[in-house]
Amino acid sequence: MSWRDLRCGELRPEHVGQRLTVAGWVDTRRDHGGLVFVDLRDHTGKIQLVLKDAGAVHELRNEFVVQAVGEVAARAPDAVNPNLATGEVEIQVESLQIVSRSTPLPFQIGDDTVEETTRLRYRWLDMRGERMQRNLRMSHAAVNGIRRTMDDLGFIDIWTPAMTRGTPEGARDFLVPVRLQPGKFFALAQSPQLFKQLCMIGGLDRYYQIATCWRDEDLRADRQFEFRQLDLEMAFVEREEVLDVMEAAVVGAFEAVGKTPPERPFPRIAYDDAMSKYGSDKPDLRFAMEIQDATDVTRGSAFGVFANAPCVRYLVVPKTFSRAEHDRLVLLTKEWGAKGLANLSQVAKFLSEEELASFAVPEGSSGLFVADTEEVAAHALGLLRLHLARELDLIPDTDVFHWVVDFPLFKHDEETGEWTFMHHPFTAPTAGNEVWDPSEPQAVRGQHYDLVWNGWELGSGSIRIHDVDVQERVFTTMGMTDDEAKSKFGFLLDALAMGAPPHGGFAMGIERFVAQLAGEPDIRQIVAFPKVSSGSDPLTGAPTPMPDAVLAESGIRALPQEDPAKA
Ligand code: ASP
Repeated sequence: MSWRDLRCGELRPEHVGQRLTVAGWVDTRRDHGGLVFVDLRDHTGKIQLVLKDAGAVHELRNEFVVQAVGEVAARAPDAVNPNLATGEVEIQVESLQIVSRSTPLPFQIGDDTVEETTRLRYRWLDMRGERMQRNLRMSHAAVNGIRRTMDDLGFIDIWTPAMTRGTPEGARDFLVPVRLQPGKFFALAQSPQLFKQLCMIGGLDRYYQIATCWRDEDLRADRQFEFRQLDLEMAFVEREEVLDVMEAAVVGAFEAVGKTPPERPFPRIAYDDAMSKYGSDKPDLRFAMEIQDATDVTRGSAFGVFANAPCVRYLVVPKTFSRAEHDRLVLLTKEWGAKGLANLSQVAKFLSEEELASFAVPEGSSGLFVADTEEVAAHALGLLRLHLARELDLIPDTDVFHWVVDFPLFKHDEETGEWTFMHHPFTAPTAGNEVWDPSEPQAVRGQHYDLVWNGWELGSGSIRIHDVDVQERVFTTMGMTDDEAKSKFGFLLDALAMGAPPHGGFAMGIERFVAQLAGEPDIRQIVAFPKVSSGSDPLTGAPTPMPDAVLAESGIRALPQEDPAKA
């Protein structure tokens, strides 16, 4: 005998008169003098069971797993529940079996007021609720849509190692000790970056993978230690061909989850424009509120704060602010690194007619100015733009996908004082700019591109270096000696020297993408078993200390630590 003839949500009037077996979880139980009504639930819906008030019925509690056999009957007209797909029928139960019992629950299924750590500690209960069922199924459907698209476009799925040498994607590596070689470590792949490039050099042409990546970074709304990427690489391509494939994958995922896909091609915006107009390399373009520049017009200003700053920029915000409201914005702007925030209404008296005429601040709006270095002005006003748009409810309910292109190849690392890569060190410079002075690389542009959805960076990619000399020049610019480059990346330099085709690719964070698709505020709602911000898994209690003997096998001795839970 099978456990059930159909799932709970599948019962319909056409089944009336049939004798069926059903199984599921007890969702609710209502006693009505002599009769007991039980809603039996699985992820497809609920069935109403009608039972005689006898026997095992008394023992039933929420979340018991039961199997029932009975005849399907039409409900009396006044008992029909139009809100349930199964609401016209019920099962008159002949026999009921308790398959499995449940202890009292730490929370009721579907209760959305439960604290998240508790939800994660009892994730199996949380998963029975609608939210996680919807999200995990949507995630599956989206990945399916992506896989279908990649297959249609001739990509092949190639598995690459998790345990490898460090791949420089800008985070710390998770390390794996090796018992056979005590004192040596693998790094968990931050991405399959070099393997996918080697596949291109190996003549594989179009690679993709739904790849797990591991990065030791602080956990945030859009970050977990481990996450998945749609990782792809193509040989003999230009940037536009890669972007085209990625757009097809996004559209494939939208269609697979039954949502209207964004229009293609997605708009492109240059990095410099994104930074100057929106103060961010992942601007939210659902609303305008562009940052304006007032540097030129304030050069000879009588207002010293403007005249002496290297850069003066402002936002025009459709609201006037009280003194107290403005003071709060000043505090925020200072937290974001700026020296202050000036409201045009307060500083207008120091400004010339010409300056005032150049600022387009209509009646009822405010001009909010930052006078600082270009980086600080962009950063602070970029964050203020987002903050005020949220606070003033200026963000329309639309979806805007766009590409950010033409990034610089290098950036200055304030901590080390060295030049470092903007994306990763395998990104190619723009064509015709393959030679530069390694001590002056700031003007070199890279063939790097990012995909942004409503202000979330979904992923990055680039056209890669396929010329070994250019690759060595990048390493030199980053301050690596030839010996260091050979010891860390000798295999790549060897491969590049043995017939490397031009190639490029992309990686998009699956959980970020699905979180946005599902309208969730963070990726933990998309991950079956995520970790919390301390870096722990509330369900299993991992990570845990290891016995000294186990560590010693791999040549490791743990330093005594203060238990953060007790500190
Ligand atoms: N490997 C890069 C990343 O994970 C993406 C890429 O360049 O394809 O961010």
